[in-house]
Amino acid sequence: MTEVVDVLVLGGGPAALCIASELSHSGVDVAGIAPQPIDAPWPNTYGVWAEELRSLGLEHLLEHRWNDSVSYFGSGGDAQDQSMVHGIDYGLFDRVALQQHWLGRAQGVRWHQDTAERLEVGSLKTSVTCGSGTTLQARLVIDASGSRTPHIRRPDQGPVAGQAAYGVVGRFSRNPIETGRFVLMDYRCDHLSEEQCSEPPTFLYAMDLGDGVFFVEETSLALAPGVPYDVLKQRLLQRLEKRDVEITELIHEEFCLFPMNLPLPDRSQPVLAFGGSASMVHPASGYMVGSLLRRGPGLARAIAEALKNRELGSAALARCGWQALWPLDLVLRHQLYQFGLGRLMGFNESLLRTHFATFFSLPQEDWIGFLTNTLPLTRLMAVMLRLFALSPWDLRRGLVLGAPRSQLPTWAQSKG
Ligand SMILES: Cc1cc2nc3c(=O)[nH]c(=O)nc-3n(C[C@H](O)[C@H](O)[C@H](O)COP(=O)(O)OP(=O)(O)OC[C@H]3O[C@@H](n4cnc5c(N)ncnc54)[C@H](O)[C@@H]3O)c2cc1C
Repeated sequence: MTEVVDVLVLGGGPAALCIASELSHSGVDVAGIAPQPIDAPWPNTYGVWAEELRSLGLEHLLEHRWNDSVSYFGSGGDAQDQSMVHGIDYGLFDRVALQQHWLGRAQGVRWHQDTAERLEVGSLKTSVTCGSGTTLQARLVIDASGSRTPHIRRPDQGPVAGQAAYGVVGRFSRNPIETGRFVLMDYRCDHLSEEQCSEPPTFLYAMDLGDGVFFVEETSLALAPGVPYDVLKQRLLQRLEKRDVEITELIHEEFCLFPMNLPLPDRSQPVLAFGGSASMVHPASGYMVGSLLRRGPGLARAIAEALKNRELGSAALARCGWQALWPLDLVLRHQLYQFGLGRLMGFNESLLRTHFATFFSLPQEDWIGFLTNTLPLTRLMAVMLRLFALSPWDLRRGLVLGAPRSQLPTWAQSKG
């Protein structure tokens, strides 16, 4: 007879490791299914505001940390080249340390190297059939296999906007940004032709990795469909050329595309989700790992508590999990963020620059709280109202009504 574990976690990325480790740490019997060995290196690099880790006592998980973090919201050219100083540290995770942090807390988890193909939900347990033909059973299945999972239902609200980026880790003929610096957003556009300025806006995200190595990435906030990689690459090369910078050594290329406004899952389904599959990516910033670290332990405690009632089957356990993961306050905050992103997606280059310059002129605790989703609902609403009050008229109109047609980039005008 197949053994029934308490919880079966699908996936081997940050979300799967986080929830498996927190559950195991709470004394829950956990198994996992991941296609790669569970300590295989992750492909993405993960950035985070250092403050998010400080409040969790996890700053040691950073591999890089920048004190000099800035953005540029001028159009470019000498007069408007001034950087906006953020005055707060930004970091990149040491991916191995993050993985080991979670694996160290997940000692009791039994990992199966396989893929979850089919789920069958019974009244007391759920069966998962794997690619190898093996079947595993659990009282609760948590799908942490990323945003493309076929096992989690969510409403169809039309095309999902993706953040697309093309990046290069490499060495350059001259420093592409100042030594020791982190650039969150460089929206200067003096390297673009008039026609390119009417195309979807993109910005530079860049950092000095030390030893003469830099990471430079051309990024689009969010668009459906995502901005093609060849367009992003062309814009990045143009941007570098404008500043007389050539790539002399290409160490690594990053091709990034992930959904920003994925609708929240149907929270009555009998399978729980966590991470990208649970739409936990912040719709305004695209970040998620800080949120996993903050929300994982509470969710694990709620599930561990519910599991004590042996009469609860998969559907009831999943319901407890959904309530703990997406309480009303967080659902409403998510809707506000999605509304905001929808507005921003229609903005042209200059309106976006005005918007971000205004946004980052808010008090630091407001904008950082907004970007990390750590403000309670009422405070978030107050911050959004404050942003509105600070905004010039054309931006206010764009935030309430959407951008006027004459200001819409040509790609957005054709969308009716
Ligand atoms: C290039 C890129 C850069 C990003 N940068 C940042 C950043 O700087 N900071 C940040 O906070 N967020 C960032 N994100 C957003 C988000 O944090 C990541 O997408 C994150 O990897 C999502 O974690 P996840 O575990 O939910 O999904 P994934 O990382 O996508 O992991 C999914 C896992 O499930 C496994 N899997 C897939 N199918 C199955 C199956 N059928 N059965 C079992 N397992 C399966 C996969 O092999 C993988 O191990 C970035 C995303 C991308 C794509």
